[in-house]
Amino acid sequence: MRIFKRLISVLLVLSVFACITPVSAGVKGDMNGDGKLLISDARVVLKIAAGQKTPTVSQKTSADMDGDGKITVKDAQAVLKLCADLDPEDYLGKVAQITPYKKHSSSVKAKFCKVTSYCGETLPDTYTADKSSPFFTPLPEGTYDYVTSGPVRDAESGKDFYYLKSGRRVYGHEVTVFTGYQMPYNKIELKNTVKYDDTSTSIYLALDWRVPFLASVKPQEYVTGYNDRPYNIKDGKFTGSYMDITFHYTTSAFGNISFPESDVIKNCVWFKNADSKTATLRIYFKNAGDFYGYTAYYNENNYLVISFKEPITTLKGRVIEIDPGHGGNQPGAGSGTGVYEKDITYKIALQLKTYLEKAGATVVFSRNNSSSVPEIEERRINTIEKNPDMLISIHLDASSAKSVSGSSVYYYKSYSGPLAYAISTSLPTAVKNGTGHSMPDRGAHFYPFCVTRVENCPAVLVECGFITNSGDFKMQNSASGQKYIAKGIYDGIVKYMTA
Ligand SMILES: [Zn+2]
Repeated sequence: MRIFKRLISVLLVLSVFACITPVSAGVKGDMNGDGKLLISDARVVLKIAAGQKTPTVSQKTSADMDGDGKITVKDAQAVLKLCADLDPEDYLGKVAQITPYKKHSSSVKAKFCKVTSYCGETLPDTYTADKSSPFFTPLPEGTYDYVTSGPVRDAESGKDFYYLKSGRRVYGHEVTVFTGYQMPYNKIELKNTVKYDDTSTSIYLALDWRVPFLASVKPQEYVTGYNDRPYNIKDGKFTGSYMDITFHYTTSAFGNISFPESDVIKNCVWFKNADSKTATLRIYFKNAGDFYGYTAYYNENNYLVISFKEPITTLKGRVIEIDPGHGGNQPGAGSGTGVYEKDITYKIALQLKTYLEKAGATVVFSRNNSSSVPEIEERRINTIEKNPDMLISIHLDASSAKSVSGSSVYYYKSYSGPLAYAISTSLPTAVKNGTGHSMPDRGAHFYPFCVTRVENCPAVLVECGFITNSGDFKMQNSASGQKYIAKGIYDGIVKYMTA
């Protein structure tokens, strides 16, 4: 289906796109024998198929892709497919980028930072505490920015921060700070190419240098929720219809592109903000509310690749990451009976894996059941690198008030909200129906848990009842309770996909 879609779109739209697979002379599909497979070769085959062109003897052999003795539209499609399957990584050249380490237009020096972590978190610069905001997005490895002050230590977390000229903070441990040369304003070109695969649509941007940028999904109304955090999506609805990616220190931005094959992106447009010396690439979604995350990184050729997840409508062919909370020497909350949160979350995770695999998903775990498991910060980075289609973190709640019972689900990004709401209603229902145990739905809420602070997929943390409540614990600690908690999470995922 996708291949067919691809062929049609290539025929219709990519008329100026020149594919340049080097092929040896006489290779099938190379109609003019120039050693390259081009859309123009496919056109010649089409013309022959339509009787508009009489082929030479060698063209006749070359055009008959399937070797059935006839030249048909199918043969033209086969040539097109060879062109369309070319990976932009293979034919885009290398971008020459400058860095503050060398002098450019100015010999003035300044204090810089370079992001050294795979995906450096950024935070608001209006306060110093270690508090994440979903409006501040991470910076890919290699990004440069001017440092205005720092390091400043947050007394509570003991972490160091640097303040950046672009209006954000970064963690000291995710950057390297140095004195470099003042950089000229940046220029960006959006390349006229898109890469599609079964689960994503990717664009390629050539930047003079690796400037900081901010990605925001809008429009979205927020209300104050749990713990006075003002980032709950209003009425549990995610309403984003576009994403703005704003590049700092950028005065020139150009290039446009169409997305005939994408089910997630409709089109995009540049805005130049002369006052702030920034440029914004606005990416309109095909359908409002249909957005599943993005990844941004520099590839080997220095292109900034931004990859958008295609809509998640089935588990078939998708990768779901399960994070069984705690593990190893991090037991999590205790029940008072010697059973700890880490043991139960792992068992629930195994049950959930069974449900997801039956539906055709590939399941990856954030940890195994051994004594050495990754810290939460490492789990967050691993998730970003693994780039799953969904992240489900499983935990059990705890309270000093033993009467407190019920399940709740937490999300960070607005587009993770709908998954959290779906699971929050389905979980207690499945548990009640399967085990007879009633526990309240304590709702879905924004909260900046470390593992869910990812941009690339819907990510939620599920608190599957209170380990400190005797009724909830009895259910959680039974094979049947674990099974129906897993079923509740699975039901929520299905509801989310089909909503
Ligand atoms: Zn926990």
